Amino acid sequence: MTAETPLSGGDLTPQVLIVGMGPCGVTIANHLGLHGIRTLIIDRSAEILDYPRAVGMDDEALRSYQTVGLADELLDDMIRNVPARYHTSKGWCFAHVHPQDQPYGWSRRNLFLQPLTEATLRKGLTRYPSVKVAGGYDLETLDDRGDKVSAALRAPDGSAVVVTADYLVGADGGRSTVRGLIGVKLDGKTDAARWLVVDMENDELDSPFSSVHTDRHRPRMSIALPYGHRRFEFRIPPGESDEEALQPETLEKLIGQFYPPGPRQARVMRARVYMHHSRIADRFRVGRVFLAGDSAHLQPPFFGQGMNSGLRDATNLAWKLAAVLRGQASDAMLDSYEAERRDHARKMVNVATMFGKLYAPGNRLAEFARDTLFRVIQGLPGLRDYILQMKFKPMPRYTEGLVLQRGPIAKDSPVGRMFAQPTVETADGRKVKLDDAIGPWFAVLGINRDPVESLSTEERAFWQDELGASLVFIRPSRSAPLAEPSGSVVIEDLMGSFRDWRRRNPGIDFVILRPDRYVAAVCSAADLDRVSAELRHRLRA
Ligand SMILES: Cc1cc2nc3c(=O)[nH]c(=O)nc-3n(C[C@H](O)[C@H](O)[C@H](O)COP(=O)(O)OP(=O)(O)OC[C@H]3O[C@@H](n4cnc5c(N)ncnc54)[C@H](O)[C@@H]3O)c2cc1C
Repeated sequence: MTAETPLSGGDLTPQVLIVGMGPCGVTIANHLGLHGIRTLIIDRSAEILDYPRAVGMDDEALRSYQTVGLADELLDDMIRNVPARYHTSKGWCFAHVHPQDQPYGWSRRNLFLQPLTEATLRKGLTRYPSVKVAGGYDLETLDDRGDKVSAALRAPDGSAVVVTADYLVGADGGRSTVRGLIGVKLDGKTDAARWLVVDMENDELDSPFSSVHTDRHRPRMSIALPYGHRRFEFRIPPGESDEEALQPETLEKLIGQFYPPGPRQARVMRARVYMHHSRIADRFRVGRVFLAGDSAHLQPPFFGQGMNSGLRDATNLAWKLAAVLRGQASDAMLDSYEAERRDHARKMVNVATMFGKLYAPGNRLAEFARDTLFRVIQGLPGLRDYILQMKFKPMPRYTEGLVLQRGPIAKDSPVGRMFAQPTVETADGRKVKLDDAIGPWFAVLGINRDPVESLSTEERAFWQDELGASLVFIRPSRSAPLAEPSGSVVIEDLMGSFRDWRRRNPGIDFVILRPDRYVAAVCSAADLDRVSAELRHRLRA
């Protein structure tokens, strides 16, 4: 697998063609590779973009990379668990965000250098013989014929190449060619404000927090990054041109306020001006073509969720494509991608846009109101905890799509939410994260119940033989040894997490998990066969 090898033969008829080798596209390719799907991923550029962009990765993304065996390697280059502090224009810290809990098994605010992370993700693709990587190929046009989709590419030598795939994913960024070719609109607006983003190296500043200085005139941020790097962001005031903002004297004045006086080693690596977009595609799927990542939604970086939202798309879409291409689900099931992802992506765009308003209040009165509100919050432990633990981050909650519950889904139901990831103990005594014990595909979790014994022969055959799901028997911690193994994967509830979960969710014996770790359904033992049959039907419908 090299970027230089010209495309030929079977490369030209992959099952999935991914356009764009940014973080979203490469994540999809890693997941498809894991499931053995023949994938071609192309990019018009042969190199990884090295200019400043995303810096923060969340726990949901790390869980997705755990599935493809890359989380630890990615974390090796990250600063984990970094707090964020928000200051008023007078310097008062009005919010300190430092989530300590790890419900999904990973730390929640982790800082990275995008080119390093992308290099690890690309290296991950070399593990999969079914994935072909082709840098320097530009998508020019496409033709969705109903049964296949053809794409005309311009090769690095200028020749024309036609690729025909079962599905095409446009992960080709904010200016997506794919989006234009399938006639999808990107609704929303672009903020008139411009931001100066400056990346430093050899940084010696003793400020290990991400700090945000919310100033009406010149809001600014300072973020310590791995290996002596630091990110500064400054809003450019109206009336100052991009050229003025990028002048060395302006940069020095802006950066100088963060460092003590005197000589300094820290050096500007790059400075760029960005505008912020709050936009969402009106469709995420048209026929055999899907949009994912920045091609489907754009948000201001205030909430650090632009890339993370794209990684949610990637994780959601990849297993669905794999299930359909392995003949385990129907093409119609792929509609659940848009049904599930678009609404949450829109929410994230709105929250990030709202955060921007908090950073840069429009006038003195708005600033006073915000500061007063946060002073009140400091005195209310529940609300203070809400901010400290980052509970304001909207978690996906799928009520449409591949989720099942009788009647409307109750507000506190676990269905459609990401399932927790506690540490469990395997039958051979290893203490591991749940996902590592149950494998990367569907799983039927029986809490104090054995799925093999509870499922009828027909339903068991569906999960085990047709779908290749894991049937998992979760036993209370330190229960007596099993008399006879039944064929389920047996794990122990080491931390009492399932015991506590069951107390909060009485009557639930079984949890059916999708490969993206969202709960597809929950039920009692008596209902298991019925729920199983209904899900089977939904997958194949
Ligand atoms: C200043 C800044 C700070 C940010 N901070 C954060 C953060 O902290 N956390 C976060 O989650 N997000 C952040 N983001 C957002 C994040 O950088 C993006 O959401 C993310 O990089 C998008 O990834 P992607 O894979 O969707 O698209 P991209 O990374 O844009 O990749 C698209 C790829 O498609 C290729 N391509 C385009 N057209 C074609 C074509 N016709 N043929 C072939 N290839 C094509 C391009 O060459 C490119 O490589 C930030 C963004 C900015 C600008």
